[in-house]
Amino acid sequence: MSQSTKDQAVKDILKNHKLRLTRVRLKILNIFLDSSKALTHEDIESHFDQLDRITLYRTLKTFEESGLIHKIPSSDNTPLYAICAEDCNHNRHMDNHGHFHCLKCGKTYCMEEVKIPAIDLPDGYEASNQHLVMEGNCADCNE
Ligand SMILES: [Zn+2]
Ligand SMILES: [Zn+2]
Ligand SMILES: [Zn+2]
Repeated sequence: MSQSTKDQAVKDILKNHKLRLTRVRLKILNIFLDSSKALTHEDIESHFDQLDRITLYRTLKTFEESGLIHKIPSSDNTPLYAICAEDCNHNRHMDNHGHFHCLKCGKTYCMEEVKIPAIDLPDGYEASNQHLVMEGNCADCNE
């Protein structure tokens, strides 16, 4: 995909989620689209010469609230984010997939093909979120 096609795709995503286009949003969304793994704040910052932390924090929060990216829990509590499937929208995430964290290279991947099974809860409990994170060796590290 050429950069201009990609920029157009990013602009469409922002528009579909009713978000104003800014230079930082455009760039951060591009970084997510280019990445096959989940990203930390640090990963994103490394693409910028200078990026104010508050701007980054706010942008990620806005993206998360708007259904563009989802947060993935990690064992060391470093926030990880990955781009959402198209059916997520404002305040409603539909990312019902598992995640895989590689203990060797440290990368975390979305496993879109691994669906989280419905889990029966005791009476009175209602889950608004469920996470499945597997750990082990990823395909690259297993070669
Ligand atoms: Zn989502
Ligand atoms: Zn690995
Ligand atoms: Zn994911």
